[in-house]
Amino acid sequence: MEAIPFARPDVGAAEAAAVSDAILSGWVTTGKISAEFEQAFAERVGAKHAVAVNSATAGLHLALEAAGIGPGDEVLVPTWTFTASAEVVRYLGADPVLVDVDPETLALDLTLAEKKLSDRTRGVIPVHFAGLPMDPHALSAFATAHDLAVIEDAAHAFPASHSGSTVGAGPSAATVFSFYATKTMTTGEGGMVTTDDEDLARRVRVMRLHGIDRDVLDRYTRVGASWQYDVVAPGFKYNMTDIAAAMGLVQLGRAESMRQRRADIADRYHEAFADLPLQLPAVAGEGVQHSWHLYSARLRDAPLDRDAFIMRMQEQGVACSVHFIPLHQLKYWRERYDLRAEDFPVASDAFTRVVSLPISSALTDDQVDRVIAAVRTTLKAS
Ligand SMILES: *Cc1c(COP(=O)(O)O)cnc(C)c1O
Repeated sequence: MEAIPFARPDVGAAEAAAVSDAILSGWVTTGKISAEFEQAFAERVGAKHAVAVNSATAGLHLALEAAGIGPGDEVLVPTWTFTASAEVVRYLGADPVLVDVDPETLALDLTLAEKKLSDRTRGVIPVHFAGLPMDPHALSAFATAHDLAVIEDAAHAFPASHSGSTVGAGPSAATVFSFYATKTMTTGEGGMVTTDDEDLARRVRVMRLHGIDRDVLDRYTRVGASWQYDVVAPGFKYNMTDIAAAMGLVQLGRAESMRQRRADIADRYHEAFADLPLQLPAVAGEGVQHSWHLYSARLRDAPLDRDAFIMRMQEQGVACSVHFIPLHQLKYWRERYDLRAEDFPVASDAFTRVVSLPISSALTDDQVDRVIAAVRTTLKAS
């Protein structure tokens, strides 16, 4: 029997045809299709602006730069995330200040975040872990009270919403999505920055492509001199290709049915695992839509440890993963900021027990049955 991969991208003939058309059009880099993808994405989340980039990491870097984060500044980041959420702060010469997370949702704990504020704190990067959105009202109240720029890491949270507010449309300075291969929709590699702030969107656009500002140019050149450009800053090379955007447009059109499929799989897991020694992942409350990028459960009083669990699953042909190794346990962050596991008790404990099960919308019913059977066998028989 073929092994079930941890995260199989849900792509097929429609994506392949769109990519083929883009290639054959003769224009393969950023162009009309990218612009169309940006427009469609902005409409889908309800943001005024969307800027396509070649990764969420690039998008986070650009958003922080545009928000004015620089050397000496501090930015609050949950320790329960991927290293990209914090590395972008270092790109700008600023310091991420890691914060422990809520024991249920594993998202940034705002009470603990408050204790880590200093007179250098300028921003916060909340992560909507697994695709369960944080409360946007609590978040913006916290940011307003402490005059912080909010850059949301929504790499897991498309499509998701909370009390009528779609992730990507909130009052935050910017929200950043990922279209990496394993995410809820993919362009191979890619990302999107959304914002309602016109100045911020403009800065992100300029810095995405070498700091070239054509609007500055328009003030003193006539149309037609297409070779003309001016540079206003040492920008980056973070633009999305039309090949990727073509795939993105197809995936965007399928996003709601793919979300529904993942939600159905999550429901089946919840039902099937209710009697097992597992702490099931936090679910969406009233008025909340979860994107279910990850199904991360924690072993609780289980007959075997997490690593043995993953090995037993592997033996039964089911690949699992771990989200996340908390940042404070990774060499660079631990040594750079002299971090200790006991200062992050929730994340440190969760890490020893957490395991992510396959939840791709590309899973067949038969594969979902096999995952369930493997989990039950592993936790009952060992
Ligand atoms: C995947 C991920 C990123 C990075 O996304 P890329 O598009 O690969 O740069 C950032 N933050 C979180 C929480 C992620 O899971």
